[in-house]
Amino acid sequence: MVSEGRIRRADVAIKEGRIAAVGDLEKSKAARIISAAGKYILPGLIDVHTHPVYLDDMGALSAAAAHGGITTLIHYAYAKPGHGLLETLHRFREEGETKSVLDFGLHGGLFDPKNQAHEIPQAVKLGVTSFKMFMTYAKLGWMTDDYQLMRTLDIIAQTGGLGMVHAENGLATDYLEDKFNAEGRDPAEVFEATRPGILEAEAVNRAICLAQVAGCPIYIPHVSAKEAVEVIAQAKARGWRVYGETCPQYLTLTGEEVFRQGPLAKIGPPLRGKEDQEALWRGLTQGVLDVIASDHAPKEKKKTDDFFQAAYGSPQVETMVEVVYEAGVNGGKIMLPRLVQVMSENPAKIFGLYPRKGALAVGSDADLVIFDPQVEHTITGEGQHSNAPYTLYEGWRCLGRPVFSLQRGEVILEEGEVVAKAGRGKFLPTQAGKIDPKELV
Ligand SMILES: [Zn+2]
Repeated sequence: MVSEGRIRRADVAIKEGRIAAVGDLEKSKAARIISAAGKYILPGLIDVHTHPVYLDDMGALSAAAAHGGITTLIHYAYAKPGHGLLETLHRFREEGETKSVLDFGLHGGLFDPKNQAHEIPQAVKLGVTSFKMFMTYAKLGWMTDDYQLMRTLDIIAQTGGLGMVHAENGLATDYLEDKFNAEGRDPAEVFEATRPGILEAEAVNRAICLAQVAGCPIYIPHVSAKEAVEVIAQAKARGWRVYGETCPQYLTLTGEEVFRQGPLAKIGPPLRGKEDQEALWRGLTQGVLDVIASDHAPKEKKKTDDFFQAAYGSPQVETMVEVVYEAGVNGGKIMLPRLVQVMSENPAKIFGLYPRKGALAVGSDADLVIFDPQVEHTITGEGQHSNAPYTLYEGWRCLGRPVFSLQRGEVILEEGEVVAKAGRGKFLPTQAGKIDPKELV
């Protein structure tokens, strides 16, 4: 089994949905024995960055995640302008309790903090303790200005929650986009050129500084640029309460895909270069970045769509574990115990689910994944369970994949099929941002 930063040989006993014992165990009294010989037992894997809207609702998304070896999800519940935060959270929670095959928590997403931030203290009481705003997408009307960002971080700090931002400088990007488009340049080239890494790093730095002034811990999702990794490293070195997340697409793909796959590879922040990838892997191994999560956002898109009309996002949840294992562990970028820390233990700790989730320890929920490092397979869009009709990893050959999983002792994934029922998933109240980043592994 792989946990707490090491690999060892051990049996795991499960009773009434929890881990009852770990070690060299007597097996004669077991009702069922599941062999993991030659395979790895991992603690349940947690994806804290998913969007159960667009083509996959909470049922479809959780089933796709379960096929990919994930056992717990934290979804973004976006409150659009004109909607209340609480009303949105209730709606997502209800949908999850009816449709989800996996346990799930929620982040609140505020599109209009001016009219929504006052609901944050009540949201915290409901068990939603992390709140996201956008520093970009000004043209789409999603951007929060610094006044409202400062005010909302202040409110979050007072309620003991965790701030989150999509950190890119939206107004600067919009100006560059208008200018380059007027010059008639190639859309894929304009897209990459108008979102340089330093505009991400600038926004990361600004968000971290505002959060520090507010006394609010802050979590930066989908870090993609090497310059942003540097900013987070500096803030952590100062002892500031900052957490960093990156995603499989930034670790494994480059901006070349935008030219090859067009709108399918249109995601925000954009895919970047080889040097950025190296910086992200280094950030993960050195503890500057704490989490890998998918940013699964499956949208209806075709290669031939108008680039700037096409929506942002890509399907990622089902392929996440296999592609980061292939590129990371097989590729010599990261050791398996560290990969498990950033996909299970750390997200559980940051969102206050540990040690119920994220641990193979006595008393923890019996959430575990059996990973077979010897299965060779090819990723295809057709083979995916998401409703998105494509994958950015078409034709990728991977060695190793999750083959079996349990949640609370119930079988979720067996022989490549999800056998768990929709609606079995439980809502998980979080307590986000309580752990000092220095105490994370
Ligand atoms: Zn996202």
